[in-house]
Amino acid sequence: KHLLVCGGTGCHATGSIAVIHALRDEIAKQGLSEKFRVVETGCNGFCAMGPILVVHPDGIFYQKLTAEDIPGMIKEHFIDGKPIEKLMYKDPATKKRIPLQNDIPFFANQMPRALRNKGMIDPEKIDDYIARDGYQGAHKALKEMSAAGIIEQMKISGLRGRGGAGFPTGMKWDFASKSPGTVKYVLCNADEGDPGAFMDRSILEADPHAVIEGMIIAARAINASKGYIYARTEYPLAIKRLEIAIEQAKAYGLLGDDIFGTGMNFDIEIYQGAGAFVCGEETALMRSIEGRRGMPRPRPPFPAHKGLWEKPTILNNVETLANVPQIILNGGAWYAGVGTEKSKGTKVFAISGDVNNIGLVEVPMGTPLRTLIYDVGGGIPDKRKFKAVQLGGPSGGCIPEQYLDTKVDYEEIAKVGAIMGSGGVIVMDDHTCMVDMARFFMDFIQDESCGKCTPCREGTKRLLEILEKICDGRGTPEDIEVLEELSETIKEGSLCGLGQTAPNPVLSTLRYFRDEYHAHVYDKK
Ligand code: SF4
Repeated sequence: KHLLVCGGTGCHATGSIAVIHALRDEIAKQGLSEKFRVVETGCNGFCAMGPILVVHPDGIFYQKLTAEDIPGMIKEHFIDGKPIEKLMYKDPATKKRIPLQNDIPFFANQMPRALRNKGMIDPEKIDDYIARDGYQGAHKALKEMSAAGIIEQMKISGLRGRGGAGFPTGMKWDFASKSPGTVKYVLCNADEGDPGAFMDRSILEADPHAVIEGMIIAARAINASKGYIYARTEYPLAIKRLEIAIEQAKAYGLLGDDIFGTGMNFDIEIYQGAGAFVCGEETALMRSIEGRRGMPRPRPPFPAHKGLWEKPTILNNVETLANVPQIILNGGAWYAGVGTEKSKGTKVFAISGDVNNIGLVEVPMGTPLRTLIYDVGGGIPDKRKFKAVQLGGPSGGCIPEQYLDTKVDYEEIAKVGAIMGSGGVIVMDDHTCMVDMARFFMDFIQDESCGKCTPCREGTKRLLEILEKICDGRGTPEDIEVLEELSETIKEGSLCGLGQTAPNPVLSTLRYFRDEYHAHVYDKK
């Protein structure tokens, strides 16, 4: 049996390393090493219950473990054959004991595709990845498919960029493949920086080879021979696992020269970004890799024509690339078999805030937000009332209760004033002051503005000052008018997406919670 213990950054913070050591020690002490393999996986996804141990293949799910639980568990469960109920998951609604992972509502409503290996494999062992179809997509792409054929399957899949903008991936690859030039680049954007977002970090920590394989296939599609993964330096575990994965892929002949004997050469380097939010913007990211200050530049020219070092370049985010191997292996139509008309496949979300089941989840496009928050997320703690959900991080918007049946779909979410974004979902209960929430995001944004253009640099600072004034009870009705007017100016006058979306937290809270602004300025609450 495999004893799968979660081992992402969050899991380590809750004590999973001590649990793993205790398990290995006790299993050796009891002479059970032949029967059990203790596997440190990446994040299992159900972060609220960590550290987690899943007995594979039985599916028995142990939660909130400590090192002290382990000797008793080994004796009772693995020697005497009696699983320990008190360490298992209990359904908070029914108090029923649910011992198997797939019965738990948090997992039962999910469809893992980009996350298919999360909690299942040791991310530091390439053989674990290969055992679950790893590198078969790359093999098929390189040995059996033409570049045009790969791009065609990507178009059929309907996969759209999971970094937030939702641009069709197949189209992006098509532009770069048709751009003239012998030097082209494939970039992976692992510069996740939204407050509340941990999708990309978790994928890299749990399944780095999936991203590397996605990059190999992308390189084949556009005829690139060099790739960079731009990862923020605050993600040391993700970077360590990526480094190990790249070395292993090289040792197995999956990176480097003459991959699969096809004559294709492709290599990947990791570039560590210093944590500037604006470097998630594609042109700023490329300037940063070039060793210059990470600032956006106007488009056109688009990166597919003139990107890194003015060469044709594609930039895809971590989740997008993690989907690619399965799309190529199973076909674009397989991927497009779930989802909505314009948003195909699945989407990974990091659910946090005032919600019971904080964690990392993946659901089919078209899933209502209510299902995401109540069935997967387990609802609001302490019997409090739902107030709003912030989607898309600081560039996104809040969605109030009356729109909770909105489906997870790029266009549907935009209609109610938010954006899909990269997948941060912050749930807020009725304790939350929405003006203070807008102030929090504006504080973040003005700090992260690169300062290149005046409306963003100065405007976000003024927005923050006004929001602070209102929160302190010093605001006036005129301040609300200035907030709206200035927001429009910033949106229209800013160069890049950061500035263009910077006023969204203000505008969406004004749209749905104007009464709270009024309460601050008229009643001085
Ligand atoms: Fe920099 Fe803001 Fe201008 Fe973007 S909009 S280039 S972040 S100042």
